[in-house]
Amino acid sequence: MKILVPVKRVIDYNVKPRVKADGSGVDLANVKMSMNPFDEIAVEEALRIKEAGKAEEVIAVSVGPAKATETLRTALAMGADRAILVQVDDGVEVEPLAVAKILKAIADEEQPGIVMLGKQAISDDSNQTGQMLAALMDRPQGTFANTVEVEGDSVTVKREIDGGLETVKLTLPAIVTTDLRLNEPRYASLPNIMKAKSKPLDTKSPADFGVDIAPRLKTLKVSEPPVRQAGIKVADVDELVAKIKALGIA
Ligand code: AMP
Repeated sequence: MKILVPVKRVIDYNVKPRVKADGSGVDLANVKMSMNPFDEIAVEEALRIKEAGKAEEVIAVSVGPAKATETLRTALAMGADRAILVQVDDGVEVEPLAVAKILKAIADEEQPGIVMLGKQAISDDSNQTGQMLAALMDRPQGTFANTVEVEGDSVTVKREIDGGLETVKLTLPAIVTTDLRLNEPRYASLPNIMKAKSKPLDTKSPADFGVDIAPRLKTLKVSEPPVRQAGIKVADVDELVAKIKALGIA
């Protein structure tokens, strides 16, 4: 069985994004970029399934600019076997539906048993690509995975839902999206970083898969979140109650 792992290059989660002065989007100039954290978890889970002898090959794929090669090399250094870059011009943001269409075309070629995605990209917070891919492929989906167990021709996914876990059993091939508590991704060791440089990395374009990536949504405005007001200190409970009453909260 093959496992396909889509990995997105996003602003590193430690960086505080800056909104462009004209409000047209987030400023990506000179900003540290990394693999989307949920995708690292997906790579880790795919590698664990392979190490348990339940998959033969882990293929990482990214839709992004030439620099997304770095993200794919990270996946290869973690242990993925090969990678596919579907290259778009710098600054072009590909919407979830177009990404899902490209992933479907790759899955049609590669026939993976599992496509393991992140539950969401921290850049757009869409939480759409995995679900759209499952619909386009007409395959079962286990989203927000907390635990994944492959057994024969099925995969059992414990899903994180409000107030608990839901267990679903999916017939392979299936789509799984990872939640935060699924695992702790490994760090790539230096020898593996070196080895990753010679692992196969194919470069394609959306046109190779017949997918039109023209945006369907128009961003009207991006703005900074409201600045939090400074708090005040109160001397005692009576003053606290009086302040709360004055604010009309209680
Ligand atoms: P989203 O629907 O944009 O929140 O993304 C959900 C997941 O889809 C991500 O965690 C990735 O696994 C995958 N994905 C989204 N965009 C891309 C992309 N440009 N390249 C590769 N994978 C992507």
